[in-house]
Amino acid sequence: MTPMLRSLLVMLPLIAGAPQAADAPPAATNDPAIDHSVMDLKADPCGNFFRYACGGWIDANPIPADQSSWGLDQELMQRNQFQLRAILEKAAQNPTPDTQKIGDFYAACMDEAGIEKKGLAPLGAELEKVDALDDKAKLPALLGALHRDGVASLFGFGAGQDAKDAESEIAIADQGGMGLPDRDYYLKADGDSVKLRADYVTHVARMFALAGESPQDAAAHAATVLKIETALAKGALDRVSRRDPQLTYHLLKRAQLDVLTPGFDWTAYFSAVGAPPVGTIDVTEEKFFRMAGKLIAATSLGELKTYLKWHVVSDAAAWLPKAFVDENFAFYGKRLTGATEIRPRWKRCVGAVDDALGEDLGRAWVADHYPPEAKAGTERMVAAITEAFENDLKTIDWMSPETREKALVKLGQMRKKLGYPDRWRDYSAMKISRTDMLGNAAQASAFELQRELGKIGKPVDHGEWEMSPPTVNAYYDPQMNDINLPAGILQPPFFSPKYDDAVNFGATAGGTVGHEMTHGFDDQGRQYDGKGNLTEWWTKADAAKFKARAQCVVDQYSGYVAVDNLHINGRLTLGENVADLGGVRLGYVALMKILKDKPSPDIGGFTPAQRYFIGYGQSWCSQTRPEGKRLRIATDPHSPAEFRVNGVVSDMPEFAKAFSCKPDAPMVRAQACRVW
Ligand SMILES: [Zn+2]
Repeated sequence: MTPMLRSLLVMLPLIAGAPQAADAPPAATNDPAIDHSVMDLKADPCGNFFRYACGGWIDANPIPADQSSWGLDQELMQRNQFQLRAILEKAAQNPTPDTQKIGDFYAACMDEAGIEKKGLAPLGAELEKVDALDDKAKLPALLGALHRDGVASLFGFGAGQDAKDAESEIAIADQGGMGLPDRDYYLKADGDSVKLRADYVTHVARMFALAGESPQDAAAHAATVLKIETALAKGALDRVSRRDPQLTYHLLKRAQLDVLTPGFDWTAYFSAVGAPPVGTIDVTEEKFFRMAGKLIAATSLGELKTYLKWHVVSDAAAWLPKAFVDENFAFYGKRLTGATEIRPRWKRCVGAVDDALGEDLGRAWVADHYPPEAKAGTERMVAAITEAFENDLKTIDWMSPETREKALVKLGQMRKKLGYPDRWRDYSAMKISRTDMLGNAAQASAFELQRELGKIGKPVDHGEWEMSPPTVNAYYDPQMNDINLPAGILQPPFFSPKYDDAVNFGATAGGTVGHEMTHGFDDQGRQYDGKGNLTEWWTKADAAKFKARAQCVVDQYSGYVAVDNLHINGRLTLGENVADLGGVRLGYVALMKILKDKPSPDIGGFTPAQRYFIGYGQSWCSQTRPEGKRLRIATDPHSPAEFRVNGVVSDMPEFAKAFSCKPDAPMVRAQACRVW
C-alpha cells in the first residue's frame, strides 16, 4: 500500500531532485511574527489568497536552474541537506563506529575521478548476467537476481501487509518495468505525448551507444525497448484506478500464480530474489501479469535481453561516468521536469546516503538538530487535532450513529509517530565499500528488499518508518493506521516552539497533522478499518453520502487549470484534496478552542484567524516550471500548490469571515465543499 503523503517532492529523487547549491544555508528564523516580505500585501486576499500569502517570496525567488520547482519546503529541505552534508563530511574523514557506513558511502559517491576511471567496469558483472541468458526458461532466475540488485524490470516484487488481514505480512508482486513515469505516457496519442515518446527512444538509443553499441544497433534496440514497455503499459492499471484498493488486491495461492503466468518458473524466481517460501501472494493486478506472461512468451530471447540491458544501464546511470550521468539528466531531469542544470554532486550524494542508510544518517542528524522541546510542541498539536477530529466525528450531521461509532473507534486506534523511530534500523548486514558506489547502491537495494521479504510470516512491526527523520514530508499509512511526521518537516518556517500558535497551527497542525489524520478518512483511507483491514465498515447510506460530498471536491478541483489547457485530475487528487480540506478545518477548530481559554492579540497587523490562514498558505509558497507542472498533473496525486491553498480557503466560511470577503469574491465558493 502506497502511503498517502503530504507532498510528492521526495517521490521523484532522480527527476525533480533536491534544492540548488548555495554557499550557505538560509538562516532559520524563529521570529513569531509573520514575515511581510513573503507576502504580496497589494494583492486582495479575497481575490487570490495564494498570491497574497506568497507573492513577495515568489517574486524574489526564481526557480534555480537545477530545479523543476522551488518553494519554502525546498528551502527547508536545502537547509537540512547542508546539515546532512556536514555530518557526512565529518563521517567520511573521521568516522566513529556509528558513522563508518554513511561516511564510506558518501566518500564512494563523491569520488567522481575514481568512477570516471573505472568506466563501465562496475556494471560488467550485471551485463554479463544478462548476456549469458541463453534460454527463456532461465529468465525468472535472472529477474530475481536483477531485482535483488535494484534493477527494476518487468514487474515489481516485495512484501507488505495483506490488505484484508493487516497483521499478516505477505509477498506482493506489482506492475512495473516501464522507464517512463506512467503508463499513460506510452498510450496517449496527442502530439505532446508522441513527441515525448520519440525523445525517450532517442535517449534510450544514446544510452545504448554510450554502453558501446553501434548507432544502428542502439537505434534498433531503443525501438525494441519502447515496444516491450508499451506492451507492459497496456496491461497496467491507470493511476486513478490504482487509487481504488479493491482493484489492486488479488490474493493468489502459490499454485494459482503458476496458472496466471504459464511457463514462468516462480520457484526459480523466489529462490533467486531471496524470498522465504511463498504460500500466498497479492499480485495486485491479474491482468498485468497475464499480459506480462504472454509478452515473455511472444518476445524473442534477444529482445528480452535488450530490454533487460536497458534497465541495467539506466538504473545505474546516476552512478556511472559523467557521460551517462549527463544523458540520464538530459531526459529525466531536463526533458521531463524542465530543470536546466543538474544538482551539484554533493546533493545527489546526500540524497543517495539518505535513501540507502536513512536511519543511520537520521540518527546523527536528530542528535544535532531536533531538540526535545520541538517534539513536545508537536505532541501538543497532535493532541489538539485529535480532540477536534473526535468532536467533528461526534457532531457531523450526515453520518448515522452506526458508522459514527466505528469512525471514532478507528480514530482512537490511529497511532501517531513523531520525529524519528523509537528503535533505529540495524544496517549491519549491509556491506559498504569506500571505492565502489555502484556496488554500494546494489548492496543497499538488496538489503532493503531482504529486509522487506524478511517480514513475511512475522508479526507486523508497528514502529517502523518509511521516511527518514530529515525528510521534509509526512505520511499516513492506511494499513498501519498511523501518521508519521518526520523531524525534517517539524522545523521553521513551518513549525517552531517559539512561533505564535496561530502560525504553527496553520502550517503544521492543520497543514500536516490534520492533513495526515484526515487521510484515514479520505476516499481511499476510509475503506480500511482501525486495524488496517480493507473492509466495508460504512453503512450503504453513509458511504453514498460520503461519495456525494467527495464528488463536490472532484468537481471543484477538476475545474482548475494548472498549465496550458491541462486541468487538474479531480479523481487522482481527491484523497489529497479531502485531506487538505479536512486538515485545515480541524486545525482551525483546534486553534479556536485554545484561543478561547487563552486569547491572543493581533500580531504584525493580523488577527489570529488571519495568521492561521497565512501560516497555511505560506507552507505552500512555491512555483513550478511548465514541464514540471505537466509531469505532476499526470503523476502526482497532489494538486499544485496554488490550488491547495485557494481551493481550501474558498471552501471555508471561516476564511471569508477572517478576511471580510464579500459573498461574490473569487475566494468564496457559492457551493462550498465539505467532507470532514
Ligand atoms: Zn497527503
